Amino acid sequence: MAAKKSAPKSAAKAVKPAAATKAELPPKVQKAPRAAKPAATADVVVIGGGHNGLVAAAYLARAGIKTILVEARTELGGMALSGDIDGVRAPMLSHTVGRFRPRVARDLGLQGKVKLVEPEARNFAPHPTNGTAITLWRDAKRTAAELATRPNGEKTAAGYLKLDGRMRRVGAYFEKVLDGIPPDLDGGKSVAELLAGFAFRAPFTGLEEGDGREILRMLPMSASDLVNEYITDEHLAALISWRGSRYNASGPISPGTGATLLFDSITGDGADGGASGETVVAIGGPGALISAIADAARGFGAEIRTGAQVTAITERDGRVTGVALASGEEIIAPYVLSTLDPKSTLLNLLGVEATGPELRRRLRATRNTGVTAKLNILLDQLPAFPSAGSAAEQEVRLRGRITILSDILGIERAFDSSKYGEMSDVPVVEAMIPTLIDPSLTNDKRHLLSAVVQYAPVDLKGGWTADARKTLADRAVAVLESVAPGISGHIVARQLITPADLQSDWGATGGHAMHVNEGFDQFAQWRPLYGIGRYETPIDGLFLSGAGTHPGGGVTGAPGANAAEKLIRHLRRAAE
Ligand SMILES: Cc1cc2nc3c(=O)[nH]c(=O)nc-3n(C[C@H](O)[C@H](O)[C@H](O)COP(=O)(O)OP(=O)(O)OC[C@H]3O[C@@H](n4cnc5c(N)ncnc54)[C@H](O)[C@@H]3O)c2cc1C
Repeated sequence: MAAKKSAPKSAAKAVKPAAATKAELPPKVQKAPRAAKPAATADVVVIGGGHNGLVAAAYLARAGIKTILVEARTELGGMALSGDIDGVRAPMLSHTVGRFRPRVARDLGLQGKVKLVEPEARNFAPHPTNGTAITLWRDAKRTAAELATRPNGEKTAAGYLKLDGRMRRVGAYFEKVLDGIPPDLDGGKSVAELLAGFAFRAPFTGLEEGDGREILRMLPMSASDLVNEYITDEHLAALISWRGSRYNASGPISPGTGATLLFDSITGDGADGGASGETVVAIGGPGALISAIADAARGFGAEIRTGAQVTAITERDGRVTGVALASGEEIIAPYVLSTLDPKSTLLNLLGVEATGPELRRRLRATRNTGVTAKLNILLDQLPAFPSAGSAAEQEVRLRGRITILSDILGIERAFDSSKYGEMSDVPVVEAMIPTLIDPSLTNDKRHLLSAVVQYAPVDLKGGWTADARKTLADRAVAVLESVAPGISGHIVARQLITPADLQSDWGATGGHAMHVNEGFDQFAQWRPLYGIGRYETPIDGLFLSGAGTHPGGGVTGAPGANAAEKLIRHLRRAAE
């Protein structure tokens, strides 16, 4: 079936990042256009109405700070919005919300406002060629019991339990790191102090003998080396390692993907992501969470404007003075907290006089090549996945993520293409069927299939033409067809969003799902860069937040909360 639509229907006026040459122009182009009406004033302008911007605005307003949030698109949510496919509200990009920080939910009074469902089956992995499948259950013992029936299964089951236990303990430890502001490591410290500081000085509590040592060893490793120490079953090793590269321009063999895998294993209080990773969906889609955060922010007194694209952060003598909007309006504020990706904020919205050539050079060198596309499909019925067993069994096993890959080298081959500006011949597909958990999304026998498709580089050779979009969507459907024969015949509508769309329609420079590539070198106070990794910038009054800052991407709310708390502390100190 031909692609029904290749760009999001609800996309507001495109958010076009300034061309590189424009970003280098002297600051006179950054001056706000003449305001058509008297400028609005605020204590803080928050740029970006993704979940992090909304969280930040809510924290600021809760602290009594006059806050205006400006979002370029007509709808809030950024990469966590619910959108429209053929009249059905679907998770347009992000589909799970299980990493949202419980403390943020508590602080903003969100409990009970959004219904979250965590299926027993977290990840079902049908093998694309041999007809077998693995299910990773929330209950690791149940997983191990099924793994034990595979060839060499006793060893695999024991290895899985050992790895899962270690990942859960390490995840629980890192949970403390997520909610903290990375420490300042300057001032002639020793390597031991740097390492302790890197671990945010949280005591190694809750860990078993050797875990603390292991954390330092595991972080710089590749996800595949880390997992292969415990697992020899190739399909299972690939399935677990994959989460070290998901959303990122890296493969399971890339160094530092061990850190990404461990961070992805952190979930809520108790941090039980483990080797299976979290799978939690919001009833009503991610948009329900977004509405709840927006309501909280408004309830605390924040003003939220949509269809308000920022064209410049205005500053005078290295001190922020507000923002200029595409409408010609100016908002005057002594503080700006931007949740856009760091390159958009510091290279595109500010001139070289404000940021300086050295910071620009270092920022340009950060890696943010987007490789993650999204395919949303509306189906006229639930497709059959024979390796999931009987129809009743399928309904249980298919409620979590459905990850289609074969082995580590298969993922690496898919990644290789993207290094050369090509899309994978056989992309990795990680799908969900949210209507199995939330039938209210379609309210009839139709189902939604929401699929992350990787690798599809933002700078595809030849560009993202209609043909290229169709090719990628067809390749992803072929992967689905390999495990759900006949699925193509049930497609009513499909919608592809490429990293190039993330760049043009969501304003993310590089079209990266996490704004900045994740990995050990772009992590903690090195996210996005050492020196601006603690939310403050060299421009007085400008704070960075969003997925490109600690603790990174995903629907966590943590960068928004951490940056807002830092700014609130700064304002309180300034008022003393
Ligand atoms: C295909 C895909 C699938 C994903 N799946 C998951 C998942 O299942 N689970 C998960 O946890 N994470 C997932 N993610 C990652 C997650 O969605 C993002 O990392 C996260 O939502 C980023 O939130 P944010 O608020 O930091 O930034 P964003 O959501 O990017 O928000 C930034 C906002 O700024 C706005 N903006 C841009 N430029 C301007 C401007 N000049 N003026 C005003 N506003 C502007 C944008 O429109 C946007 O709304 C996925 C991402 C993608 C792309």
